[in-house]
Amino acid sequence: MTVKVNPMAAMPLLGDPPPWNGSAPPPTPAALGSSLLGNTITCHGLRRANVLVVAGVHGDESEAVFLAHLLLARGCSAPLIPCANPDGALLRQRWNRNNVDLNRNLPTPDWTPEALNPRYPPGAAPASEPETLAFLTALEQVQPSTVLSLHSYKETFIEIERPESELSGSLNAAIRTFADAAAIERRQSIGYPTPGALGAYGRANGLLVLTYELERGRSHGELETLADPLLTLIDALDTERFVEEK
Ligand SMILES: [Zn+2]
Repeated sequence: MTVKVNPMAAMPLLGDPPPWNGSAPPPTPAALGSSLLGNTITCHGLRRANVLVVAGVHGDESEAVFLAHLLLARGCSAPLIPCANPDGALLRQRWNRNNVDLNRNLPTPDWTPEALNPRYPPGAAPASEPETLAFLTALEQVQPSTVLSLHSYKETFIEIERPESELSGSLNAAIRTFADAAAIERRQSIGYPTPGALGAYGRANGLLVLTYELERGRSHGELETLADPLLTLIDALDTERFVEEK
């Protein structure tokens, strides 16, 4: 199936969904909670699953939100939060309305009240923000073994804070197939400490975390070419449960 996306359309702030074009009814979004400004944070296809997909934790990364809506339009059946920080998206800023970096606000053993960089304010306490609580609600309900988080950045790559030896051959192969299709490399570290971030949360809780950094400023047409390979990866992640070896 194909989805027509007007490449001339302005990048939507909230990633206005392309028209539904699938054969099955679209998954019903479930409310996870409200942002500080009262925007509902939703999860489409909320169910027990091996993988949870989340996009737009950083409000100024509309590429990720747009790609998430493309995934929905193409029939993604995995639980998916298309916009985890709706206030940030409206305000065109990385942080939430409290100017907290939600990807430093998760309850992790390494959480610190100190911002290691002014760009990454972690909040007053772990999980102090309603958007973080909404995400934790999704984790509780989905019980995933794997979280795929969509971001955008000046460089594009997929970051997995685990060596290949910790993943099964089939998961490594699915990731390799996607990385080849997207012409990106697999990295094990972003290169600087990220306390309170999803990767640290995954390490502490036995979750496999994949962070896909899209290239900032990609056009709708370029994002469209990524949707099908990403759906194939999501299907693979949903088929096989990641099990951490103790
Ligand atoms: Zn980001």
